Amino acid sequence: MGIVLKSQKEIELMREAGRISATALKIAGEAVQPGITTAEIDKIAYDYIVSQNAKPNFLNYNGFPATCCISVNNEVIHGIPDKKHIIREGDIVSIDLGAVYQGYHGDNAATFACGKISPQAQRLCDTTREALYIGLTKCVAGGRLGDIGAAIYEYCTARGYGVVRSYTGHGIGTKLHEDPSVPNYGAPNRGARLFPGMTLAIEPMINEGTHDVKVLDNDWTVVTADGKLSAHFEHTVAVTKGDCLILTQP
Ligand code: MG
Repeated sequence: MGIVLKSQKEIELMREAGRISATALKIAGEAVQPGITTAEIDKIAYDYIVSQNAKPNFLNYNGFPATCCISVNNEVIHGIPDKKHIIREGDIVSIDLGAVYQGYHGDNAATFACGKISPQAQRLCDTTREALYIGLTKCVAGGRLGDIGAAIYEYCTARGYGVVRSYTGHGIGTKLHEDPSVPNYGAPNRGARLFPGMTLAIEPMINEGTHDVKVLDNDWTVVTADGKLSAHFEHTVAVTKGDCLILTQP
């Protein structure tokens, strides 16, 4: 359907959807403690989103059964919350969730540490978060989509990590997933031109080892092909004439 530019009024509504999404993510992340189940974390996010007169936009999306994707350790994305899945000390827990408010969507993700994690896990999480913010510095009017992906890819591969290629960020607005797709790789000065009013979900998914992934038999959960760790950070942003506006802020 092509890239849809948003008006100032639409961006204000997306900012509210983003505030709800980001606050739900913050609360869900604070709940990551040894002994909690992923289903309990999901319920906390659900309860907050509906309390704000919004709806969880992942719930029932293509049949997805929960508010959050919760992906632990070697799980990359699309982990399904489960009352039998107990989080343990040392786990890294990626939570991805969003809210739709008055027809506009927010989407964000972060990887949280459960208690004390290994230095290797900490470095992976730090690098992935840093890669997101480096990508955002390229998210400026006049630049191109390839600038974002190239910056993320370069930063992570220079540190020895695998950059997931088979899943990408995306445009977002009145739909959770809109054009364009926003890969975490690319060539500088290539791809679609960035204009004020574009709203994008930027989301590096970074693996400790190979970039290769596979999908489990539940047809949802994406895991690393080599069983090593993965991390995921995401913001929804609006392109402006200056620095991009991060819409997913608590
Ligand atoms: Mg997303």
